Amino acid sequence: MATFVLSDLHLNPERPRSTDAFVKFLRGPARAAAAIYLLGDLVEYWVGDDMLDIEKPEFVAALHDLSDTGTAIYLMHGNRDFLMGDRFAQATGCQYIPDPYVVDLCGEKTLLMHGDTLCSDDVEYQKFRLQVRDPAWQKAFLQKSYADRIAMARSARTESVRHTAEQPEYIMDVSQPAVDAAMRAAGVHRLIHGHTHRPGHHRFMLDGSPAERIVLGDWYKTASALRIDEQGITFIALD
Ligand code: MN
Repeated sequence: MATFVLSDLHLNPERPRSTDAFVKFLRGPARAAAAIYLLGDLVEYWVGDDMLDIEKPEFVAALHDLSDTGTAIYLMHGNRDFLMGDRFAQATGCQYIPDPYVVDLCGEKTLLMHGDTLCSDDVEYQKFRLQVRDPAWQKAFLQKSYADRIAMARSARTESVRHTAEQPEYIMDVSQPAVDAAMRAAGVHRLIHGHTHRPGHHRFMLDGSPAERIVLGDWYKTASALRIDEQGITFIALD
């Protein structure tokens, strides 16, 4: 049975095509899968589980229906959706997995990550990440009004676009020493991540053995997933 890995869908009511493609995937090919892994940034922003009542995202029911059919749905937080909590998990049937996470995918021990922690040359971003992952910061944020939280999420997004545009290309990509260290610590020769929006399949040597790093693409212009089965790994288009 196949396993699908997806990342960086950045679902947003402003881009209904991505949501449509995702729902079609959940109601179609995903049904035949043993499991799907969502590696973060499922939505453009998530300001708390009360978004379930206010925005009523269409994909929530489709995720729940899929989990009811027996396909396991594993969800890793990214830098846009780290405030998805217990209510979101209940409403969708998703099970959270930590970042990093090691799993056997069709016989190959594989490290799954969102990817932002690998961008260790981006010191400004890593400082921001530490702040927003602090439980005290999150508690204070969740106590703000819905309108204030949305305004803060939008301004963080604008700030991130500005930051990305200002940095040299290499700063915004993963650092190879960080990749090597993460793979070494996990004892793997295969890493799958998203976040950088630079899809690719990189092969290199790690401590004298062949290793690979597969980077998932984002869903801003196209929709894609990684399909893994006994035959191997393929990128598939979903739109
Ligand atoms: Mn990200």
